[in-house]
Amino acid sequence: MEAVGAVLGAGGVAVDYVRLENVSPTPASAFSVDPLDFVRIDGEARDRGLTLLGLFHSHPGGAAEPSDADRRGAWPGQCCWIGALRADGSIELGAFPLNGGSLAAGQADRQKRIV
Ligand SMILES: [Zn+2]
Repeated sequence: MEAVGAVLGAGGVAVDYVRLENVSPTPASAFSVDPLDFVRIDGEARDRGLTLLGLFHSHPGGAAEPSDADRRGAWPGQCCWIGALRADGSIELGAFPLNGGSLAAGQADRQKRIV
């Protein structure tokens, strides 16, 4: 099952992560967020002086690269974080400023890191 959550930030820097429910009818290979959850978390972020920077989701058994569906579904101005579990147990994290989003560090078009 793909995990999904909201990345909240201040000044373009991620400072918190809030897990959300994956409501996709095919959660093993896709994710979807209830629009009401999205509105709720955006309001909670604003109440805390934070901004909803984008969504994180996992690619179980896949690569930390945005799929065609990720690119089509990217919200304007937000960043897409992807985590992929690698065969050696490490996790590859990728951050992709799809559809006009941006990365705070260096404003690169992507960042990847193994943790
Ligand atoms: Zn994806």
